[in-house]
Amino acid sequence: MTEWAREELHPDHAQSLRVERLHYDSETGHQRLRVFENPTFGRVLTLDGVVQTTEGDNFIYHEMMTHVPILAHGGARRVCIVGGGDGGMAREVLKHATVEHVTMVEIDAGVVEFSKRYLPTLSQGAFDDPRLELVIADGAEFMRGTKGGFDVIIVDSTDPLGPGEVLFTDTFYGHAKRALNDDGILVTQNGVPFLQGSELTNTMRAFRALFVDSTCYLATIPTYAGGPMAFGWGTDGDGRRTPTDVLKGRFDASGISTDYYNPAVHVASFALPGYVSRLIP
Ligand code: SAM
Repeated sequence: MTEWAREELHPDHAQSLRVERLHYDSETGHQRLRVFENPTFGRVLTLDGVVQTTEGDNFIYHEMMTHVPILAHGGARRVCIVGGGDGGMAREVLKHATVEHVTMVEIDAGVVEFSKRYLPTLSQGAFDDPRLELVIADGAEFMRGTKGGFDVIIVDSTDPLGPGEVLFTDTFYGHAKRALNDDGILVTQNGVPFLQGSELTNTMRAFRALFVDSTCYLATIPTYAGGPMAFGWGTDGDGRRTPTDVLKGRFDASGISTDYYNPAVHVASFALPGYVSRLIP
């Protein structure tokens, strides 16, 4: 009998992924953690029943949340990742030889240990990179107390449910702003606007009060169902106006090969359709 993993993140919409083989299913103390095999998406990680990442389409999400801010910044040396327990975000950040230090603040050690074992293609050795400092803590607590000094902060959290909820608050955003260096850039996983529009509006309202430049950019990740996903963007710098040819020079110099990100896609990702731009106050 075919088993399906049903995700019910939204009140009026659900998605199901076929479970060809269940690799792991357990409580971590923070969340229920499952990994199963799907013929199309490969290994799928869910937390509390919500798709977090898949082997098949994670490249879109992780490339766009890392190379956009880092290449727009042009001189990012110190990066902070909040969440990101599967290691995919760290994998992409650490591809930049110019990045000297990555602080990754993950609340659930179980996700890290588990991802190393069951999802090695996500982190691809990132956890062994000497530049990575792994901090097991609540990202909100960390941000409140950190001395900061980050050029880019990437919030790769779960949705605003359970432990992830505190990462969608004005207080957290204010502390993140304070932790940024001059011209630093904050990017956030901000859900699928078609189904989670109020989350984007709330974040953008907070960002408008905190940053000179606040907006979002888009990319479509098949298993984050409901259309394009929004990534919150906040900075006092002018990184968003970096010309395509300058981005190309930086991208070429990085020597990084990608399957989704490129400078033209980078620039185009900030072009917002009406139904999204109308969600930004
Ligand atoms: N790409 C996924 C998405 O868009 O939903 C997120 C993937 S990653 C697995 C999400 C991580 O955020 C999880 O490892 C979870 O444990 C972590 N997390 C949730 N709340 C957190 C908090 N308050 N502080 C730090 N990490 C948190």
